[in-house]
Amino acid sequence: MRWVVSRRAVIARSLKAIPVAGFVGFLAKTGLAAEACADPTDGLRASLHYTETSADRGKYCSACSFFDADGENGCGTCKIFNGPTNPKGHCDSWAAKD
Ligand code: SF4
Repeated sequence: MRWVVSRRAVIARSLKAIPVAGFVGFLAKTGLAAEACADPTDGLRASLHYTETSADRGKYCSACSFFDADGENGCGTCKIFNGPTNPKGHCDSWAAKD
């Protein structure tokens, strides 16, 4: 007897075997899912046009002098906003690290 299993069935069964929280964490670590660290529409962030994903490949939060990598859930913190910031984010106050 020959078994025929579709690719879709294999993927669906594989996803059922992985706990959802673990899968989301896996996606975040691999960069396959966007990590939301802060609300871009929140007060000062909005006025400085903060975005969770920088449009400029060379100017992102983790390369900014105001960024501190000590954060939670893959996020860092910003000294200007005094709160969580996406390492891939950007705002108008970006300044290159020394
Ligand atoms: S000041 Fe720097 S670290 Fe803070 S949000 Fe703007 S670009 Fe990111």
